[in-house]
Amino acid sequence: MEDFKATLHTIVEGLEKLGKDAPAEDAEVYNCPLCRDTGYVLRGDRAWPCVCRSSSLLREKKAAAGLTARLQMMDFDSFDLHCYPDYLKNDDGKSYRDIASEAMQNARSLADSCAAGKTGRGLLLMGKVGCGKTHLAAATANRVLDQGGEALFLVVPEFLDQLRFSYRRENEGLDEAEIISRTYNVPLLVLDDLGAHNYSDWVCNKLFTIINHRYNRNLPSVITTNLDLRDLEDKIGDRSTSRIVEMCRISNILVPEGQDHRLGTLV
Ligand SMILES: [Zn+2]
Repeated sequence: MEDFKATLHTIVEGLEKLGKDAPAEDAEVYNCPLCRDTGYVLRGDRAWPCVCRSSSLLREKKAAAGLTARLQMMDFDSFDLHCYPDYLKNDDGKSYRDIASEAMQNARSLADSCAAGKTGRGLLLMGKVGCGKTHLAAATANRVLDQGGEALFLVVPEFLDQLRFSYRRENEGLDEAEIISRTYNVPLLVLDDLGAHNYSDWVCNKLFTIINHRYNRNLPSVITTNLDLRDLEDKIGDRSTSRIVEMCRISNILVPEGQDHRLGTLV
């Protein structure tokens, strides 16, 4: 990674110098006057990726990590704490705003430590549909990837469909072992919407395998769910639930009744 950064730095410096010499009219014709939209610039006898490619490469990397274009737009700056009223409190007297703010800070520091190569506890973000938990989970993954780290964002119902499909048609596409192994050692795993739908014993066992593998290696996960802990235990089993509780900080994000934040900036 350091080598890559040093190379990129050299390229950027060279291109900035080239850019100063670029004819002024090019700026009006091409989106990128440096490479004239080819994505490459010539230096000496070699073609180098242009700086304009680094942002599209990052978008591709994020897409490969499971972040759709919509999820890629979710960052900590666009997480609006004003959606969480200060005047409403939970049973412990903590305001909705403080709960959301704490969850956001935990998520941000998890992203930074993960990008720095550290392991540790993850986050369990609980709350009803539209409370902003997917936004925080996506912001965490985006921040890790922005800093050159690795993350994998899985929408659990889709992931389980993929797993079942691979099980039925093992010889086509990714097989089950490949799909599961992607989740094992990635520095940050996001499991979005855990507990939606009914889980068979087979699915519960697969989930436990993943969660237990990461638990044993102290690898952080961000898990979101609409369920409370009792319902989560009914859905995915007590073994997985107790592992999750041990390996995660828990935030129960609250929003006012009858408000759907998905219509605004939150998901
Ligand atoms: Zn360019």
